[in-house]
This record gives sequence, structure tokens and C-alpha cells, in this order.
Amino acid sequence: MSDCLFCKIIDGGIPADIIYQNDDVLAFNDISPQAPVHFLVIPKKHIATVNDLQPDDAELVGKLYLAAQKILADKNQDSYRLVMNCNEQAGQTVFHIHLHVLAGRDLSWPPG
Ligand code: 5GP
Ligand code: ZN
Repeated sequence: MSDCLFCKIIDGGIPADIIYQNDDVLAFNDISPQAPVHFLVIPKKHIATVNDLQPDDAELVGKLYLAAQKILADKNQDSYRLVMNCNEQAGQTVFHIHLHVLAGRDLSWPPG
């Protein structure tokens, strides 16, 4: 998607602090971190929201979690929060699905 910020990061058109990638997913530090560790894991395939996921995307979504798990293990983090916001009322501002990964501080519940 030519007008998608995260597709531009995937294509290298916009710089990002990339911490991991493989054929299917890319992970980079959030530009506005909300915890000592805050990175995003995104599919290289453009999918706007969780509502747009199809059955064929099931393995891809699993790969987002496995990438997060690997990066967190490399960072020696075993307590963390994984969040995917869907649509504006839930706080989604970039319409290319992304798994927020937050760690390194106490995280309250419920979230705001
Ligand atoms: P959302 O609000 O859609 O759940 O999360 C979008 C996230 O993307 C936010 O945490 C925001 O800080 C992050 N973000 C927005 N623009 C950029 C950018 O250009 N680079 C990086 N690395 N993160 C961004
Ligand atoms: Zn995109």
C-alpha cells in the first residue's frame, strides 16, 4: 500500500530502528516508547486491521507472536504485554496491523 506508513518502513522508504526481520515479519522500536522496551512486530503483508484477517493469515499472525517471543528472549525479558489495537476507539492510529510489545516496567490492568 503506497500510502501506508508501515509499508514504507518495510520498503525502506522511511527509516526505522529495525531490530529483527525474516521473510514474513519485521520488528522495530516504537518511535514514542511507552515502556523501557516497546517495539512493534508487523507482517510484511499489508493488512489494515484485525477485522481484515482471513483464515489464510492464521500462520502469519502466529509468526508475529513467535518473533516477539524470540526478540524478548534475546532481551532477557520474560514478563511483558502484547497488544494489538483495532480501529480508532481502541487507539489504532496506523492501519497496518502491528503487535505492540511492552516490557521493562510494571504494567497496570485494566489499560486505559
Ligand atoms: P497504534 O496507535 O496504531 O496502536 O500504534 C501505532 C504506533 O506506531 C504508536 O505507538 C506510534 O508511536 C508508532 N509510530 C507511529 N509512527 C511511527 C514511525 O514513523 N516510526 C516508528 N518507529 N513508530 C511509529
Ligand atoms: Zn501497510
